[in-house]
Amino acid sequence: MEYEPVIGLEVHCELKTATKLFCGCPTKFGMEANTQVCPVCLGLPGVLPVMNEKAVEFAVKIGLALNCTIAKYSKMDRKNYYYPDLPKAYQVSQYDKPLNYGGHLEVPLKEGIKRVGITRAHLEEDAGKLVHAGGKAGRLDSSDYSLADYNRGGIPLVEIVSEPDIRSADEAYAYLTALRNILLYIGVSDCNMEEGSLRCDANVSIRPKGTEKFGTRTEIKNMNSFRFAKQAIEYEIKRQAALLDKGERVVQESRLWDVTENKTKTMRSKEEAHDYRYFPEPDLVPIVLSEAYVKGIKDSLPELPGAKRERFTSKYGLTAYDAGVLTSEKELADWFEEGVKHTKSPKGFANWMMGDMAAKMKELEKGFSDLKFDQKKLGELVDLLEAGTINSKQGKEVFAEMFDLGVSPAEVVKSRGMAQVSDPKAIEEAVAKVLAENPSVVADYKGGKQGVIGFLVGKVMQASQGKANPKLVNEVLKKKLDA
Ligand SMILES: [Zn+2]
Repeated sequence: MEYEPVIGLEVHCELKTATKLFCGCPTKFGMEANTQVCPVCLGLPGVLPVMNEKAVEFAVKIGLALNCTIAKYSKMDRKNYYYPDLPKAYQVSQYDKPLNYGGHLEVPLKEGIKRVGITRAHLEEDAGKLVHAGGKAGRLDSSDYSLADYNRGGIPLVEIVSEPDIRSADEAYAYLTALRNILLYIGVSDCNMEEGSLRCDANVSIRPKGTEKFGTRTEIKNMNSFRFAKQAIEYEIKRQAALLDKGERVVQESRLWDVTENKTKTMRSKEEAHDYRYFPEPDLVPIVLSEAYVKGIKDSLPELPGAKRERFTSKYGLTAYDAGVLTSEKELADWFEEGVKHTKSPKGFANWMMGDMAAKMKELEKGFSDLKFDQKKLGELVDLLEAGTINSKQGKEVFAEMFDLGVSPAEVVKSRGMAQVSDPKAIEEAVAKVLAENPSVVADYKGGKQGVIGFLVGKVMQASQGKANPKLVNEVLKKKLDA
């Protein structure tokens, strides 16, 4: 049976406010355990939380960037559950009146833009962190004891919940990438995955292709790497398909991705909303926002990837895919926009950025700040190629030298005597010589084996030490052979 996966993602994004959501404790990562805590975030009796206004502002920014409706009235609720990393035994979150709802995110895919619905993006506090000690490194199931660190407890989070619009592990990966990209553009989170600033849960179910009804879903919890999320979703789709093929059923539950065994494992049976006994947080007033406040935040937003992508296609003639790649990170987009000032061919410039340049930067693990050349030099190379002064093979050599040493492409071409021979007379002479030296190949061609022309082009190129303009060589050869 062929199945269609149905995937929804919940992403927790830590906001980069200086202080926590309800107290003045700092949010700095990596500090000594339990040094950034106070009676409020430790949940001691008698304390009162005070809302961090910056966190509300950042959360509204996220809502606007995700095309959500911003609630003029929303409120905080208590989500009750007992766990050692949650000293109050409840998390302050938002239940039935989230700050942002009903938006969408445009996700660039190879086959075009896919619009994924955003159900809601609400504000809540993070829990502390348990450190499992002894036994196999960091694993709860083999540890001797656990330690609680409350530094993270109370750091503001926005939970971004997507509609179940995602249909494959690759789409999930693209969605996560696009979302991270937007969060970085608007500057509300450092999105540092290693430090847990972005964490993701995936709801996965499958249904027979062509049917509408959703299958039973499982939730894969707490993944802090997009790569793991993709692997876990792929695994889960296969696992569920194998169960259904055997006539068994999928059990609704939470599962964990085991990175050492590359499989998802049962964690606990899935809880329902009523298990949390939500009720309005009595110690905080509702969040009431004015039209002017929301508009002020909207006006402060930078150009977002979607708008930039459209501008790149219309203004510079890039394909949607290329524009999607170049706007995928702000730094990349900025580098390109500065670059087009220095070339006659934005498309050629984009091709080099996404091709050889990206490959080499990845291979050598270099960032833009490590580069020895600037946009002006790459633009020079692009224009030399466009003008036909050098051919593409030479272009690669010049690029390598520019990349390694930071030299000017025009100077490399000059000092190495690379300028391509585009003089028709010189090429005609070389062609005539090659044809005279290879009568049997010429006979083959005339006998119908047109493919041998490649051999002859090679011979002419060789005779010109690679400097002849290959396009011209081809034309002249064809003309002579077909005459
Ligand atoms: Zn505190």
